[in-house]
Amino acid sequence: MTVRIVVAAALALAIAGAVAAQAPSPAGTRGFSLSGDPVQGGAQIGTAPAGAVAVKLGDQPVPVDADGRFLIAFDRDAAPTAELTARLADGTVVRKALTVAPRAWRLERVNAPLRPTRNSEAFLALRRPELERIAAARAMVTDAQGWRQKFIWPRTGRISGLFGAQRIYQGQPGSYHGGVDIAGATGEPVVAPADGVVILAASDAPFTLEGHLLMIDHGHGLNSAFLHLSRIDVRMGDHVRQGQRIGAVGATGRATGPHLHWGMKWNDARIDPLLIAGPMPPG
Ligand SMILES: [Zn+2]
Repeated sequence: MTVRIVVAAALALAIAGAVAAQAPSPAGTRGFSLSGDPVQGGAQIGTAPAGAVAVKLGDQPVPVDADGRFLIAFDRDAAPTAELTARLADGTVVRKALTVAPRAWRLERVNAPLRPTRNSEAFLALRRPELERIAAARAMVTDAQGWRQKFIWPRTGRISGLFGAQRIYQGQPGSYHGGVDIAGATGEPVVAPADGVVILAASDAPFTLEGHLLMIDHGHGLNSAFLHLSRIDVRMGDHVRQGQRIGAVGATGRATGPHLHWGMKWNDARIDPLLIAGPMPPG
């Protein structure tokens, strides 16, 4: 066996190009096939082994479409290792160990104490139903297929806040920034980064923190949230297409000035839109 591998390796050096061009894709056959490498805050599209009846990432069930395609993603603070498993109809379990690359998050050390947020009863009375609406929106399962697409930016502009950035107050970490901020002026258009279904549209009463909040489900547990909008142009339940205008930049809710905050989640994992949409195209 060892000898054969050595010979194969030597041959591979000589004919690597030809092999790469001719080798049939293992997708949908015996093992998993995945796009790219696992990284904190990133997502991967994969193909399950043929005959898989259940796929899981760790303990988490992963839905698989009829063509074997699925989506997985890794939280900002995902552990360095993960395991993908597929149970086949005959009971066999196919395993794939994943090494999740860490990211260097932007940390800012502040020489001031971390002040606990003291929320008034009046604030909490407003906030509880808002959090319930957000949780209910995230729990919705739609037929959206946007998760399969190459995402685009909902607007082109200067990135004014990075996902994952965090202040450390005299050694005590504050909460990290859960999305990417894109600078803009009130009224500038925001478009759908991928196909989806509107699962929350706070068009009438702005939320206390998020303001006019719009959430779009892209299917398979992947969703986008757009915060601080000045206007929302779509309604709950609407199917939106990639590139379609969905609202406008604003400064509603808790915002120091007009900008678009774009947050993304895959189930409970907070992920980085920059990894999903790729580098910002030149304005
Ligand atoms: Zn933000």
